Amino acid sequence: MEKKTYKDFDNYLKRYPDKNGYFGEYGGQFLPPELIPAFKEIDDAYEEICHSSQFISELRRIRKEFQGRPTPVYHCERLSRMLGKVQIYLKREDLNHTGAHKLNHCMGEGLLAKYMGKKKIIAETGAGQHGVALATAAAYFGLECDIYMGEVDIAKQHPNVIRMKMLGARVIPVTHGLKTLKEAVDAAFDAYLKEYKDAIYCIGSVVGPHPFPKIVRDFQSVVGFEAREQFLEMTGILPDAVTACVGGGSNSMGMFAGFLSDPVDIYGVEPLGRGSAIGDHAASLAYGKKGILHGFESYLLQDENGEPLPVYSIASGLDYPSVGPEHAYLHDCGRVNYVSVDDEEAMKAFFMLSRYEGIIPAIESSHALAYAMRYAKEHDTGSILVCLSGRGDKDIDYVYEKYGTGECFISDLQKSDK
Ligand SMILES: *Cc1c(COP(=O)(O)O)cnc(C)c1O
Repeated sequence: MEKKTYKDFDNYLKRYPDKNGYFGEYGGQFLPPELIPAFKEIDDAYEEICHSSQFISELRRIRKEFQGRPTPVYHCERLSRMLGKVQIYLKREDLNHTGAHKLNHCMGEGLLAKYMGKKKIIAETGAGQHGVALATAAAYFGLECDIYMGEVDIAKQHPNVIRMKMLGARVIPVTHGLKTLKEAVDAAFDAYLKEYKDAIYCIGSVVGPHPFPKIVRDFQSVVGFEAREQFLEMTGILPDAVTACVGGGSNSMGMFAGFLSDPVDIYGVEPLGRGSAIGDHAASLAYGKKGILHGFESYLLQDENGEPLPVYSIASGLDYPSVGPEHAYLHDCGRVNYVSVDDEEAMKAFFMLSRYEGIIPAIESSHALAYAMRYAKEHDTGSILVCLSGRGDKDIDYVYEKYGTGECFISDLQKSDK
């Protein structure tokens, strides 16, 4: 594909995806024929509602009064000094209500459901983070909420299951196949097929059939637009680089949306897990090939029959065998650089930010921070803005069990700090 620079990205967000939901050759809508009218209804409604001034001002008010936006941009002076001369900044999405960026699109999807006159929202969840954010939105808007979740995940993610139930959602166990996310997606689609007159399906990232990659990107773009303005106000210039972790790709697309047409280097960070062998990572862009999963075409970690391969990352929010189609496009045209960070490097960043800045990050977000730390060591000067997608409270029990309080990761740096 022809390479593109920031100069080719004027007005890009209005031009992509095309009306069929394609970003170049990626995206689209691969659905059973019975579901096509339901998705068309969502697409038509979104195109109309998203331009209404009432919808825009209501969403703005919710973001300010309920979510706590704008979230701040923070300069990590101490961490930056320890690493060299590059200045590291964080966009604090961890300070959103419920502790992560996911609420940005869930509140948007909930408001869309309300404007469409729907009574119920339906979704699947893997680790439970999307389920909790959506159950929060459902409680706020007074909508019913059915969350499909594999039985295996229900057992593993007990606290999130309790949260969803306390928020009033129904958590419906999926008991066939491997009883994890893939089966939960199928079950949620089946339910939506039966109930689409009264219900709307709400996806958890910039993935799935058109129009979801577009809708979720648009709702998340508040992250990048806010961060750009805040950074300019703080420093008078743009950052040299921005970075974010890429699971399905929603916090990163939100962040990148604010900077695509600027002379800023952009880095998406995929999880390299335990290494590059099959089943040890979830770096779909680095090791995948074009394929179809969950109704859209993108890079996919797949076997010779096109079946998704097993994936792994220490961050449960990043272990998805595919990636949003817009990332596939930005990868091929060269506008965004995709890099990978393994479990160890991410965990080191987790403990460094906790110890030296007083912020315990989500393990997902630690991947982006780890790349920023690598960037700081490799560059003599400049600045890098990191999307800190979530807080780490959800991770501390697991981390403590595996790594204790992190002495092994920070001991050498502590010495040089003195
Ligand atoms: C779910 C999650 C992610 C990964 O999802 P994206 O769609 O890639 O943003 C990253 N960080 C946190 C904190 C999450 O909860």
